[in-house]
Amino acid sequence: MDKGADIAVIGGGMVGLASALALRERGLDVVLCDPSEARARTSYGNAGVVSRGSILPMASPALWGKLPSYLRNADSALRLDYAHLPRIVPYLAHFMAQARESRWREAAAALIPLTTAAYAAHERLAAKAGTTDRLARTGWIKAYRTDAAFAGAALERDILERHGVAFTILDGDDLREREPALVRRYAKAMILSETGSVREPGRLVEACEALFEKLGGRRIRGSVVNLSPEADGWTIAYEGGTLRAKQVVIAAGVASGALTKKLGYRFAVAAERGYHRHYKLHPDSPPLSCPVLDTGAASIIAPMGPDRVRVLSGVELNARHAPPNHAQIEAASREASETLRLGGPIDNEPWLGSRPATPDGMPVIGLAPRHKGLIFAFGHGHIGLSTGPVTGEIVADLATGRSPAVPITSFAPQRLLGLPRLF
Ligand SMILES: Cc1cc2nc3c(=O)[nH]c(=O)nc-3n(C[C@H](O)[C@H](O)[C@H](O)COP(=O)(O)OP(=O)(O)OC[C@H]3O[C@@H](n4cnc5c(N)ncnc54)[C@H](O)[C@@H]3O)c2cc1C
Repeated sequence: MDKGADIAVIGGGMVGLASALALRERGLDVVLCDPSEARARTSYGNAGVVSRGSILPMASPALWGKLPSYLRNADSALRLDYAHLPRIVPYLAHFMAQARESRWREAAAALIPLTTAAYAAHERLAAKAGTTDRLARTGWIKAYRTDAAFAGAALERDILERHGVAFTILDGDDLREREPALVRRYAKAMILSETGSVREPGRLVEACEALFEKLGGRRIRGSVVNLSPEADGWTIAYEGGTLRAKQVVIAAGVASGALTKKLGYRFAVAAERGYHRHYKLHPDSPPLSCPVLDTGAASIIAPMGPDRVRVLSGVELNARHAPPNHAQIEAASREASETLRLGGPIDNEPWLGSRPATPDGMPVIGLAPRHKGLIFAFGHGHIGLSTGPVTGEIVADLATGRSPAVPITSFAPQRLLGLPRLF
């Protein structure tokens, strides 16, 4: 049996690592438990966008109109694996119940303090981890192929405006001038200038790991299989041993649902899988200055260096460990080759990760309602890279009895535990 720690953090993605670091900085003896396969973390392979404007959950009011094409898997934004459908029906039922304008507005109001704090938290983290050269206020572009598609995003613009998120609208010609790498003709684009991005987020994660160890943080390279509450703390069983800790943070991304279930909590955390593939830019292409969401393809293209980009797919609803299906990333790559002048693919195989998604599109951050010394920090869905560092600071506040600087009432676990028991 290992000597006891003050706190064990389960999961070494952006959320877990940022938490472990913030806790270590408060002087706690911290053990981080993770199997440590870098590419297995969703935090490794995302688009790296850190945007104040990322406040609009996937369950949008527009979803209802798109449902027929989603259900036929005829829209690259979503691929539903029908073999997985019976397991995901309860999640989808709760998810669809959120797809109303009132809920969209409420979620945006709850998320804005978190996303507003995100970039500054990234700056603090990057300064400590020595990765400031990977973080920049690049802005980001949402590009619309038709005027109708732009008009369809009016509610989004209204909500962003209401929360003071800065954006400008460009027509197709102005966009070409702003971003000469784009060869596709777009009707309109929204430029979110406050947005930053992390180039190769996996490198940030690795730098955080190295910093954690340098600061004296302890590592256990194995999966946690069980958590047992004791009178004075927790016994944590992992592959290869057990560990004692006074407090535990569950930050295991999409695996958090299974871990919390063993303690009697039933969260609907779904795997919204997504893929990426890297491409060289054609030698004659100007570099891409910032990430671009091509709303017509439901895919993001993010620069990962002056001469290469990462193409990222939409959402695949499937079991976390199901074999990959490359249909969406192949479609996204075909579309990207008409958006930019691309050279050949860099990697042999696309990367696959799972966004840890909750039905209301908000993370679960807070103290566990039925256990002492247990903190939940998961379910960050599409915004976990951006809001991971600020979540880490919140977790450190919760563990040390301080009030978090960012309001977290809306992220309380209780809101999801109170849902009708459909599963
Ligand atoms: C295609 C795509 C694009 C994205 N783009 C963006 C973006 O631009 N901006 C943004 O903010 N977000 C983006 N995201 C979302 C973001 O990547 C995730 O929200 C974020 O990585 C989640 O971080 P996490 O730490 O919760 O989970 P993860 O990074 O998945 O980390 C969880 C960790 O827990 C570990 N673990 C699991 N089970 C156990 C266990 N039993 N014991 C110990 N450890 C365990 C895993 O090994 C893993 O290392 C994107 C996601 C995808 C898929």
